[in-house]
Amino acid sequence: MSNRTPLMAGNWKMNLDHLEANHLIQGLAMELKDHDHDYSKCEVVVIPPFTDLRTVQTVVEADSLSIKYGAQDVSIHDNGAYTGEISTAMLDKLGVTHVVMGHSERREYHGESDELVGAKARKALDAGMTPILCCGEALEVRKAGTHVEFVLGQIRAALAGWAAEDVAKIVIAYEPIWAIGTGETATAADAQEVCSAIREALRADFGEETAEATRILYGGSAKPDNIKELMAQADVDGALIGGASLKAESFAAMARFY
Ligand code: PGA
Repeated sequence: MSNRTPLMAGNWKMNLDHLEANHLIQGLAMELKDHDHDYSKCEVVVIPPFTDLRTVQTVVEADSLSIKYGAQDVSIHDNGAYTGEISTAMLDKLGVTHVVMGHSERREYHGESDELVGAKARKALDAGMTPILCCGEALEVRKAGTHVEFVLGQIRAALAGWAAEDVAKIVIAYEPIWAIGTGETATAADAQEVCSAIREALRADFGEETAEATRILYGGSAKPDNIKELMAQADVDGALIGGASLKAESFAAMARFY
């Protein structure tokens, strides 16, 4: 067992209006409370769309919940003339502690490069937030057998020039694109293969301490049925959960796995 605190992060994507968000966060809090969830054993983070952050903040603060919440993206700019962007200062005001970047949906639909993803991670970290940096290969890459190389390339490009102590503060989420929202989960062995290769690469590039400290999540059709096997892998420190995080019971069941 490593010293890394497992992390269960629920990526709500572009779902739920503020009423639904309110319902889900309250339901989740209730589920976890009923089962005496130990947050020191497993950190629980929800990642709503920007428009629901205030709602989540209100519930979390009113009930002094230990659930944390994050944003699905962030601007690399500071406040100013950047129409449509959301700054770290704005997120900070809302109590946001985590920021996702490099999700395959943003890479695909918004053309985000590894360099931009790295700059977003840097921006979040500099603002005192925990970046959750996503990586993962498409089906063709997996079929060609070059998935490990591909994923390490994404991470190395995003973290080029970073100091080891900064890398240790981020979270990396390995999300094979072919497993996202498809119902097709990578096997536990598939997840472990890539997560351990990521840790090896961190060891080679940033040293033992950083490799041991950095949390690496798996994401892609993770659900209550398969979470146990996934989390039993030595280099998988939690999960980034899409679909199954939209139901309080299923997300809580996954967080309670620890
Ligand atoms: P999924 O999404 O759990 O619905 O496959 C995971 C993600 O994209 O973060």
